Amino acid sequence: MRRVTIVGCGVVGAMIAYELSQLPDLKICVLDRQPPAQGATGAALGVLMGIISHKVKGRNWRLRETSLRRYETLIPELEDTLGRSLPFNRQGILNLCFDPEELPRWESLQQIRQTQGYPLEIWSAEQTATACPHLNLRGVAAAIYSPQDRQIDPAALTLALVEAAQLRGVRFHFDRQVNGLQPHDSHSLIVETPEESLVSDIVILASGTGSSSLTQSLNQSVPIGPVLGQALQVKLTAPLGQIDFQPVVNGNDIHLVPLGGGSYWIGATVEFPTDADPSWVLGLKLEEERLEAVRQGAIAFCPALAEATVTKTWFGLRPRPQGQPAPVITQLPGHPQVWVASGHYRNGVLLAPATALYLQEKLG
Ligand SMILES: Cc1cc2nc3c(=O)[nH]c(=O)nc-3n(C[C@H](O)[C@H](O)[C@H](O)COP(=O)(O)OP(=O)(O)OC[C@H]3O[C@@H](n4cnc5c(N)ncnc54)[C@H](O)[C@@H]3O)c2cc1C
Repeated sequence: MRRVTIVGCGVVGAMIAYELSQLPDLKICVLDRQPPAQGATGAALGVLMGIISHKVKGRNWRLRETSLRRYETLIPELEDTLGRSLPFNRQGILNLCFDPEELPRWESLQQIRQTQGYPLEIWSAEQTATACPHLNLRGVAAAIYSPQDRQIDPAALTLALVEAAQLRGVRFHFDRQVNGLQPHDSHSLIVETPEESLVSDIVILASGTGSSSLTQSLNQSVPIGPVLGQALQVKLTAPLGQIDFQPVVNGNDIHLVPLGGGSYWIGATVEFPTDADPSWVLGLKLEEERLEAVRQGAIAFCPALAEATVTKTWFGLRPRPQGQPAPVITQLPGHPQVWVASGHYRNGVLLAPATALYLQEKLG
């Protein structure tokens, strides 16, 4: 049996654990310094922007398409295994287009998607008003509707993956800080924790913004920095618009995510560390006005939200690679037993299945 240690139990680590648990000759252990889904994953909105993204070819599109396809089989598979349903919104994503000059780009995307076998609809303001009477369409040139894009609750998904992987023999240890990695012999490494030193034949770093310091312990630099995102949950007395049509709505990069029962997530800010403040993360001060700007942006395209009660606010740190595109899924130079599966930045929930399937293929 090959001993595999996965460091990090966000959506990426949990997905890798679950997909690898299908390989017969692996003994898999997942370590996290916190309970599952407490990092970026716990802050994410779970919007899976695949078909409606402007990525149409190469690695970026392949990862998206692989993930979207896998989600369609994965969710029923997990629901069957666990005997409960998962919050998976199959009503698509509606993107409001405010700039008429962007329409040719959307029309070109629509044609490309048609050849790829995916529907993408371009609605007039009138069509949009009929489908979504709760939206303020002043200034909206058109709306792009992608019926096959999805949204999932990232924390519920991660917990389900942990449970299903446990049923297949994966061991999880939470509250387990990994301090570093050390070469052991030519085939294995030591994963150092305060409690024990774990000898592993394969180590997978799915540790989000914590990945860089672990690569540094092997004298390798894979810079992955944090990008702050703030979001909020609101509650209305009744759902917005038509009860049987509740897609995710996106306007000016602000998502309105229906949760059922009149509750919605709204987000998120995208806040970069400033050069002037290198200790940005340690001394992190949340700027409430940035979150309020997001709420006001959502009210602008959905005025009924002005009456909603804010029930929760939160933030997370997205892991963003520096000097290379997101995500980083690679063997660590000089250490072929170490894989980095991190830096998924704004699309970790979307890209987790493709990341896990890639590793399943490489380690299979
Ligand atoms: C507000 C917000 C909204 C978002 N919305 C979306 C969205 O709609 N769709 C989407 O696809 N993505 C979204 N994202 C991005 C998404 O959250 C991330 O890309 C994704 O969660 C990354 O997952 P991960 O498992 O790599 O990292 P994380 O969830 O951060 O998990 C990493 C884990 O590693 C652990 N760890 C780190 N270092 C160590 C160590 N040394 N020892 C032990 N454990 C360690 C941490 O405790 C953590 O649990 C959003 C992010 C934010 C902040």
